[in-house]
Amino acid sequence: AKNAGKDDYFVFKDKMRKRAVEKMTVETELRLALERSEFVLYYQPIVDLKNRSVTGFEALIRWNHPRRGLVSPGEFIHVAEETGLIVGIGEWVLHEAASTVQRWREDGVADNDLVISVNISARQFGERNLVDNVSRILKDTKLPPHCLKLEITETVVMVDASDSVRKLNLLKESGVLLSIDDFGTGYSSMSYLQRFPIDQLKVDLSFVQRLDVDPASIEIVRAIINLAHGLRLEVVAEGIETEQQLNLLYSLQCDYGQGYLISRPVPQEDAELFMKINKSL
Ligand code: C2E
Ligand code: CA
Ligand code: CA
Ligand code: CA
Repeated sequence: AKNAGKDDYFVFKDKMRKRAVEKMTVETELRLALERSEFVLYYQPIVDLKNRSVTGFEALIRWNHPRRGLVSPGEFIHVAEETGLIVGIGEWVLHEAASTVQRWREDGVADNDLVISVNISARQFGERNLVDNVSRILKDTKLPPHCLKLEITETVVMVDASDSVRKLNLLKESGVLLSIDDFGTGYSSMSYLQRFPIDQLKVDLSFVQRLDVDPASIEIVRAIINLAHGLRLEVVAEGIETEQQLNLLYSLQCDYGQGYLISRPVPQEDAELFMKINKSL
């Protein structure tokens, strides 16, 4: 038994070393990925649950790795965040998303009020010049501010809630829309919810996916929706995979929905097709 323990220890150490090497490799490759234009954005439609029309998309990053193919953010975002590389990547995401949607608008592919949602990481939110960067990107791309929605997680805004209020106010003044992502999974305080100048709550997919198996989830989602509407905020449910979840959310008066049932995140060309089909319906 003693020997087995020792083996476990070496296996553990070996795993740790492997993980550290992997992290360094990812870091080195990430540094080059921006220069080599290896990142791409995928777009997942967000629909109005009342008429099922597409009202916007969430931009989701993918890494088109020369050897590994399309890599999902779960595999590299944390390294980007820990190393600070996320700041440059995040700026690229904002610029790419804004310029793509502005092109859609100019080409008549997108409606004038189509909204693009972009995820803002913890580091990016903490940056002193975030507000200036957002304003500059909007100016450069000519995208009107009301077409851009920033998704910031509950955990990130609650780290320093009073500083977040200040920052969110500045962002709000610039005209962009603000959404609290992964709502219900972190710590949030009802009093801060009232002080944040936000437009929307995004119900975390963990609740949505339990809707049709766990009655408690229905009550949680109902409470979130009522809370949001009471504060005159819109609610989006993410991770809708079944008709049953969709119908439940509709009956709970959730405003918008997003999930594999409607569409997976798709490349730009497919998003364009989506809008063309949507228009002809
Ligand atoms: P998130 O912001 O909560 O995004 C939702 C995730 O759920 C996306 O995963 C999306 O593809 C996935 N999803 C959507 N519908 C369904 C569904 O019906 N079922 C299931 N199982 N999943 C669904 P993805 O694209 O892998 O992104 C994961 C996370 O990576 C995001 O979570 C976000 O935190 C982060 N991320 C993605 N793109 C960016 C980015 O451009 N910048 C930053 N900072 N983070 C990003
Ligand atoms: Ca998000
Ligand atoms: Ca989310
Ligand atoms: Ca999430």
